[in-house]
Amino acid sequence: MLFSKLFAPTTKATPADASIASHILMLRGGMISRAASGIYCWLPLAVRVIEKLSHIICEEQDRIGSQQVLFTTIQPAALWIESGRYEAYGKEMLRLKDRKDGDFLYSPTNEEQATDVFRKYVKSYRGLPLCLYQIHWKFRDEIRPRFGVMRGREFLMKDAYSFDINFEGAKATYMQMFRAYIKTFRRMGLTPIPVQADPGAIGGNMSHEFQILAETGESTLYYDKNLSGASDEELATIFAVADEKYNPDTCPIPKDDLMVSKGIEVGHIFYFGTKYTKAMNVFVLDENGNKVYPEMGSYGIGVSRLIAAIIESSHDDRGIIWPEAVAPFDVTILNLHPKNDKCRDVAQRIYNALNNGCICSEKICFPSFSTKEALYDDRDITVGEKLADADLIGIPWQIIIGEKKTKNNLVELKNRKTGEIKDMSPDDVIRRFQ
Ligand code: ATP
Ligand code: MG
Repeated sequence: MLFSKLFAPTTKATPADASIASHILMLRGGMISRAASGIYCWLPLAVRVIEKLSHIICEEQDRIGSQQVLFTTIQPAALWIESGRYEAYGKEMLRLKDRKDGDFLYSPTNEEQATDVFRKYVKSYRGLPLCLYQIHWKFRDEIRPRFGVMRGREFLMKDAYSFDINFEGAKATYMQMFRAYIKTFRRMGLTPIPVQADPGAIGGNMSHEFQILAETGESTLYYDKNLSGASDEELATIFAVADEKYNPDTCPIPKDDLMVSKGIEVGHIFYFGTKYTKAMNVFVLDENGNKVYPEMGSYGIGVSRLIAAIIESSHDDRGIIWPEAVAPFDVTILNLHPKNDKCRDVAQRIYNALNNGCICSEKICFPSFSTKEALYDDRDITVGEKLADADLIGIPWQIIIGEKKTKNNLVELKNRKTGEIKDMSPDDVIRRFQ
């Protein structure tokens, strides 16, 4: 992709209505554009990150047999009246009327709809277990939308819904999902902290929140410092809680091991048994022909919030530092002197080689997951502006092409995170990324 063609309207000035780093950097980096309070348009750089995150999420969901669907964003109110949540959900729900005066709503979540799809087709134990997921938009009319996409009103969520024949099955599904979440977040370059959301309720409701450490987080986490060395299995039982669930008198963590930090909730998994299947009278027949209400769980990941959370946990005063796995591009080529023939030749040669020799590779929206992708800053702007933009949008590697070094057949390879710079020949740098 050529930067001169990319729609990434970067700005120098700090936006007036943004207070935390991720919000400021997403606006300044030309990733999002505000439409209304808590509602944002997503521009090409952000869409590429969404695609990267979604790809990782889908791979880990598919691996555990969870199958991708698309439920609807507009749901009939009848389903929610049936479950008893229509009134209970209150003002967070955006309610709509169609032209025939029918009651609808914009999905804040899809438990009822997943249960409804299930009951239409699954009538026997043979159809179980079943787990369906989607990556789709939600709307919650939050009282205080804030911090940009961190607490938005319209936001993108991966939500999964599982159905099992009994508690043992549901618990196994829950643990499978737990492990898939740990893996998913780790693949994104994050260190997830699973926090017991409903501690100690064995056999009752199981629930974990997945938190990412960041100073600007809304939750206060209390956790064992040995948590980072724990296996996935241990993580599910290691004590960690958030906010008012912490009680110093009953906390099992030795004083010296207790860590207290701020965190951002990026995922939440629940087991809630037969809550919806009973309320909506959804049952299957077991092996003996008896009616059984399937046991359910639901599992969310805040995809759009994750983008902000990743930036909160990975940035400096110059801009974003994307983890390699989720960066909008893998490498950016900075031609500092686009009017210099030699510089232009070298930059173009590296760019062509990285784009598999395809000069016309101008696609914007769908990043490739198999090859390294380069963003070539071919714009005729000052050296300072070019370097500042590169640091701002935070591509993990910068190939810097300047007049002096090019004369000696060298370019610089800079690591955005460490700032470390290495001189290399153009051929070596091509090999490094091919
Ligand atoms: P919170 O406590 O932050 O309001 P929640 O418990 O309401 O979250 P869930 O219903 O479990 O959230 O939704 C699953 C995930 O969706 C959350 O873990 C979070 O990452 C994300 N999420 C929830 N509300 C929002 C929002 N208003 N804006 C962006 N992401 C959100
Ligand atoms: Mg909420």
